[in-house]
Amino acid sequence: MTVNIEDMRCPLCNIVQDTHTHLFFECGFSLQVWLKVTAYILITNVGNSWMDFVLAVKSIAHMRLEKAVVASILFGAIVYFIWQERNNRLFKKNWRPVDQVFDIIFSITRLKLMTLKFKDSAYVARMKIEWNLDISNYFLVIGFVIRMFLMVLSPIMILAY
Ligand SMILES: [Zn+2]
Repeated sequence: MTVNIEDMRCPLCNIVQDTHTHLFFECGFSLQVWLKVTAYILITNVGNSWMDFVLAVKSIAHMRLEKAVVASILFGAIVYFIWQERNNRLFKKNWRPVDQVFDIIFSITRLKLMTLKFKDSAYVARMKIEWNLDISNYFLVIGFVIRMFLMVLSPIMILAY
């Protein structure tokens, strides 16, 4: 059996060999996603390995637990949707740009934040405005949930056919 070295390239950049470390922390595509997300929640020095990310979240938790919760959800979503993007490109030849992947990560995180209860504080009040978490706006939430369903389920429905 022969293995074509080009088949082992990272599907996100198509340059470097496909490894987990490259995919999540070194790939140009993934780095753009990380930069957009960390710029949004004002986190710097998140490093470039699993351990660095765990330490970054831990150090945030020491300062501001709510921010660490947001960061944990975001980081989990980044890893999940980078992995999904890799598989979509590899197996379905379906490409999404960085901005679209960021939008999905952002929306999923917001949906998750809506389900959590935070202790009232000035920081949490600011966070609710930043993430638009005021669920008193019923129609906004319904619209959002429908949009998320369409975004998340459409690839699954395409796969089902
Ligand atoms: Zn790559």
